Amino acid sequence: MMMLEPLRFSGLRGALARNAPLGRYTSWRTGGAADILYRPADRDDLAHFVRTLPATTPITVLGLGSNTLVRDGGVRGAVVVMHDPGAALAVADGLLYVDAGVACPKLARFAAMHGCAQAEFLAGIPGTIGGALAMNAGCYGGETWRYVARVEVLTREGTFEVRAKSSYATSYRSVRRADGAWPDGIFTAAWFAFPPGDGHAARERIVELLRRRIATQPLDLPNAGSVFRNPPGDHAARLIESCGLKGYAVGEARVSEKHANFIVNPQGAARAADIEAIIAHVRDTVRERTGVELEPEVQVIGELEHE
Ligand SMILES: Cc1cc2nc3c(=O)[nH]c(=O)nc-3n(C[C@H](O)[C@H](O)[C@H](O)COP(=O)(O)OP(=O)(O)OC[C@H]3O[C@@H](n4cnc5c(N)ncnc54)[C@H](O)[C@@H]3O)c2cc1C
Repeated sequence: MMMLEPLRFSGLRGALARNAPLGRYTSWRTGGAADILYRPADRDDLAHFVRTLPATTPITVLGLGSNTLVRDGGVRGAVVVMHDPGAALAVADGLLYVDAGVACPKLARFAAMHGCAQAEFLAGIPGTIGGALAMNAGCYGGETWRYVARVEVLTREGTFEVRAKSSYATSYRSVRRADGAWPDGIFTAAWFAFPPGDGHAARERIVELLRRRIATQPLDLPNAGSVFRNPPGDHAARLIESCGLKGYAVGEARVSEKHANFIVNPQGAARAADIEAIIAHVRDTVRERTGVELEPEVQVIGELEHE
């Protein structure tokens, strides 16, 4: 990877690369390149990077890329990768403070260790806290925003704002500003309020939840979790399976035999276009046969190869 001119990006402490393939930053293990890829050293370094970029340069955020399909033509502008194995967790004023780059399972274990209940669901979500905030990730009855007290956001102008939970309107896998606008900025941290509970029981529940996931999800193959949101009162997986689509393949990608709402990339050789073609086919087939319009949960970013 070629480094950018130091004059243009002086004073950065993170890792910067140009024309950087994004496949290794997504759980589907496919996708084109970012014009500029940046892995910040910390929040202040991220703010410096954001301020350094021309205001017209688009910024795309990735956490662990576990809910994202990057198209084969790649992403124009800058992609910031927020996942940071060294990011901080702390107990602060009775709340749990978490940097956005922390992986969700780490918060689940940290919460259990500190005698908190109801954070166990996060153990099965292989994304970052930032991604969980952006998606209102949830499972087994738990949902990220139910436990948020406040968040810290880095604006496009490069300033930090602490926002109360009431600044956002959240529902199933959906997050908007309270006025209905699309959320702006980059989540850099959150404070969570989990109820007190039995840490030992929480740790046991985590083990049980992970066991259930291994039994029901194709975790040994590259995937991005549930591709479609569940429609009200039903399950996307049930609808897809009822249409006989398990195993449906395009190129190197296919609908998982183990869980019909997962698309897998078994050899790591699928193109994003293969996956997108499956998504379109599944959506069309389910609509034609059942009348239900499935809404994708995965975020599709970037450009088609010859756009
Ligand atoms: C095996 C498997 C199981 C899964 N199970 C579940 C589940 O049970 N429940 C569930 O809800 N999801 C599940 N997912 C999907 C995924 O893990 C979640 O949506 C997760 O919250 C995404 O986090 P991420 O860091 O990987 O986000 P990414 O995929 O990197 O990004 C997703 C979206 O969030 C935005 N984003 C990421 N970080 C930030 C930030 N710091 N600030 C602003 N925006 C940001 C991105 O721009 C993008 O729009 C699963 C995925 C896999 C692979």
